[in-house]
Amino acid sequence: MTIAYKRSNTHYYDDGDVALICPSNYDDRDRNNGDNGGNGDGDVALVCLSTIFKVHSTVLRLASAYFNTRFSPTWSSESRRLLIEKDKNEDSELTSIAMDLKYCKHHAFIDNEEEDDIALLIAFIYPIEHIVITWDNVNDILRLADKYLINKALQTAADFLMSSYSEKPLTSLRLAETYNFPKIFKQSSTHIIDNVCAYKEHPEFGYLSDRTRRKLFQARLELSEGVTKSSFPTLSYICSSCYNRNADLDAFVQKLREPTSIFSVGLQNILKFGDNMTHTECMRQARSILGKFIASHYGTACLTLATLESVEGFSIELD
Ligand SMILES: [Zn+2]
Repeated sequence: MTIAYKRSNTHYYDDGDVALICPSNYDDRDRNNGDNGGNGDGDVALVCLSTIFKVHSTVLRLASAYFNTRFSPTWSSESRRLLIEKDKNEDSELTSIAMDLKYCKHHAFIDNEEEDDIALLIAFIYPIEHIVITWDNVNDILRLADKYLINKALQTAADFLMSSYSEKPLTSLRLAETYNFPKIFKQSSTHIIDNVCAYKEHPEFGYLSDRTRRKLFQARLELSEGVTKSSFPTLSYICSSCYNRNADLDAFVQKLREPTSIFSVGLQNILKFGDNMTHTECMRQARSILGKFIASHYGTACLTLATLESVEGFSIELD
């Protein structure tokens, strides 16, 4: 199979000394063929999926420990070079690319990466664009940052997860486990433990390690088992008429013990137990007794998942 090469549309600098070569798969060969709108002053040609990124070794070496090693004088002298057979037509695109590569000090073949991913990696490293981390790219950014040892990208992605984990706790937990972010792991785990049976049905749950999955269920089991009727205070000051208006407190407690329930919602329902009582005094008593009880067990009577994150037993640690 003949491989066609094209210049990257986004990262092709005239004074670049590195050619990053992204080997193209067959189906991609004709995509964007011939159009090179890239900047023309790079000194490094990276070749990927038949796409060539011509970039600067100094920039890559500063950002990435991987590229720092790869473009060190000892390493690069042993690296193979991409040789493109010159076209018969001296003015062809291929001949022109071949001439560019001839003057690139480093040729680096980036196997097993998509062209778009390499473009994202370079965009993140170069100070030209500001790449905003979102749920759509955080997975790729972390994978590339981890593989190519780019600390700034790892840190920026971790900051994003730290500020956004409550939006997607399962994704955050998985990424925190994969890339070793203990704090994000611990805080995300509260959200999963709270409703573990529902999260278990999500395909992403299967990507967690066996150990983490077991620990999540174990934590939930221990929380549920810690709730028993006998551990609840008696509501002896409340008249039977008011008490019975709200169904049995037992039923609320029983619900909390079911692994399929949402634990924080169950606790909130118990706090609301007094809300429909006929007598103001009965209502006040019920709220006060249950509020104090919940606060003594869960740290606060203003229950949210954020407050529960710091309650003992409501999270698991990354080991
Ligand atoms: Zn009453």
